[in-house]
Amino acid sequence: MATTIAHGALMQAAFFLGPNQMELREAPVPVPGLGEVLLKVNACAVCGTDLRILGGGKTRGVYPPRVLGHEIAAHIVSFGEGAEAAVGLPIGQRVVFPPGITCGACRFCVIGMENHCKRREAFGYRYDGGFAEYMVVPAHAARRGILMAIPDTLADAEASLAEPLACVVNGQRQSQVGVGDVVVVAGAGPIGLMHVQMSRLAGARSIVVSEPSTARREQAMAMGATMALDPTHDEVLDVVRSVTGGDGADVAIAAIGVPGLVHDLLRWVRPGGRVNLFAGYAGSGDATISANLIHYGELIVTGTSACTSEDFRVALSLLASGRFDASALVSHQFPLAQVHEAFDVTRRGEGLRVVVRP
Ligand SMILES: [Zn+2]
Ligand SMILES: [Zn+2]
Repeated sequence: MATTIAHGALMQAAFFLGPNQMELREAPVPVPGLGEVLLKVNACAVCGTDLRILGGGKTRGVYPPRVLGHEIAAHIVSFGEGAEAAVGLPIGQRVVFPPGITCGACRFCVIGMENHCKRREAFGYRYDGGFAEYMVVPAHAARRGILMAIPDTLADAEASLAEPLACVVNGQRQSQVGVGDVVVVAGAGPIGLMHVQMSRLAGARSIVVSEPSTARREQAMAMGATMALDPTHDEVLDVVRSVTGGDGADVAIAAIGVPGLVHDLLRWVRPGGRVNLFAGYAGSGDATISANLIHYGELIVTGTSACTSEDFRVALSLLASGRFDASALVSHQFPLAQVHEAFDVTRRGEGLRVVVRP
């Protein structure tokens, strides 16, 4: 897989220029500087965050013109001076990496919450990401050892899902899903379906999914849900109560960012139950809840934001072992020339994970 790049060679790259402006252009293949690593992108999945950035709904930490895309599987093409020893992987090695580059020294890095690093920067925001043929890993990121080898058993498209799965691993940790639990997952998009599979792996006895789309309910059942409800017809609360002898679920996870659902999730869980607000909300996400549900119910309400490198390592190992099956989650693959189509398919919610193959 080793490739030699001629000096002055050009590549295709999709640049985000500003709200609703993304342009596929020729650009010079980056030359890795001191301590940097040049990667050839093999696969980059379209994330809801990419859509929010392109739509202008997310601007913090994004510096256009910028190549978006942070769910990346790539291989090493060449090393800048000194990088090879720091990285410890050979040219041609396929790699994945958490999109966040952290400092390792701030308070949150030190206490194991590196996803809240005060100096966190990310690919697809601060640095060019994966909707391009080639990309560079900055020296400080390479030194931090972010590149992880993809085992031979794992294909590129599936490997690119390590990042969203790592976030789901984080959400599962926050939710403390365990043996014998009854788990309710609201929303069966790719993220909700990952929570279904992960809850099954964690030993949940019953996994109830609430999802208006018939196709997605069927996918949820295929991936291990024990029941898939249509919230426009079924009363989720009644079903959850009947499954739990009236007690309520142990865990409820919001895998869709609808503020109005928060109150429902608080009602679905038992006293002492755990509610995880996994999905992000547009704007400030104002929601109306009855705070006494938390007070009298002694509920544990958590959120989830990105992932740590340990979450990422766990996700990659689950994918590589085959214990987590990502193949059914990759619904579309497009060449880079059709990157706009890939975004449109994702926006229309027609598929699950849509992967671009530069
Ligand atoms: Zn993502
Ligand atoms: Zn830090």
